[in-house]
Amino acid sequence: MMKLFRTAAMAFLAAAMIGATAGAIPARAADPGVPILLYHRFHPTVPGSTTVTTPAFEEQLGWLAEHHYKVEPLASIVAALRGGAALDPMTVAITVDDGRRSQYTEMFPIVLRYKVPVTLFIYTDAVSYEPDALTWAEIEEMLKSGLVDVQSHTCSHPDFDKERARRSAADYESFVASELAQSKKTLEERLKRPVEFLAWPYGIHDRDLERAAAAAGYSAAFAVEDHLARADGDLFAIPRLVVSDWDRGERFDKLLGGAGAARIASNDPLASCQAHGAAPVVAP
Ligand SMILES: [Zn+2]
Repeated sequence: MMKLFRTAAMAFLAAAMIGATAGAIPARAADPGVPILLYHRFHPTVPGSTTVTTPAFEEQLGWLAEHHYKVEPLASIVAALRGGAALDPMTVAITVDDGRRSQYTEMFPIVLRYKVPVTLFIYTDAVSYEPDALTWAEIEEMLKSGLVDVQSHTCSHPDFDKERARRSAADYESFVASELAQSKKTLEERLKRPVEFLAWPYGIHDRDLERAAAAAGYSAAFAVEDHLARADGDLFAIPRLVVSDWDRGERFDKLLGGAGAARIASNDPLASCQAHGAAPVVAP
């Protein structure tokens, strides 16, 4: 609530400062957007380019609670975005990509303790197969908590730019269609619940991919971008902010305000979705 007042007060002040004649409030003040956070791996002690330590994760969740942020299920935020309504700026969503095992061993107990909803974006080829991946049993156990939702991150986590470069147009088109449709089908059959969201591997997307996602039956897709999600944005490239272990206190506050922009613009490696391609963290 405090922040709402602060935002409104700042908007008023800004309008006053730019002349006070038209009374125009900058568009951003009308719909500042909401932060959708993106995590990958968790570890009790060792941070990494895509690994957040469990103390940092707890600190971030505690910070959200202390500052009156409300962690909402991703589906609620998409519903509001789809309806074109400006979102409560104190809303935040948590997403977690790649289906790494630490999401069960390290993150899930904390999610239960803080009772926050999270959405996992899973690429299905890895499940119960790659050594560092979640198993179907772990995913099902997390789903039963009612706090964890599972959506698609394709089948094999391809780099669509590379695939387009090395395949014929027709081959690429059928490859994309298969990656998008098959992962959705596998998750829906296995987990017996609808899957309607997609997260772009490495954040790579373009108009053709977005059209293919719609054709495959998705209603929204998520990118890795430098700004907050807004009702006037593209529903197939909803931005998410990468959270690092160092995003605590004031730095976390800046990230929530969309300040992740500076990091992504400067090509900070922390900002890229490279989780399963990164060097694995050795478990203690
Ligand atoms: Zn990924």
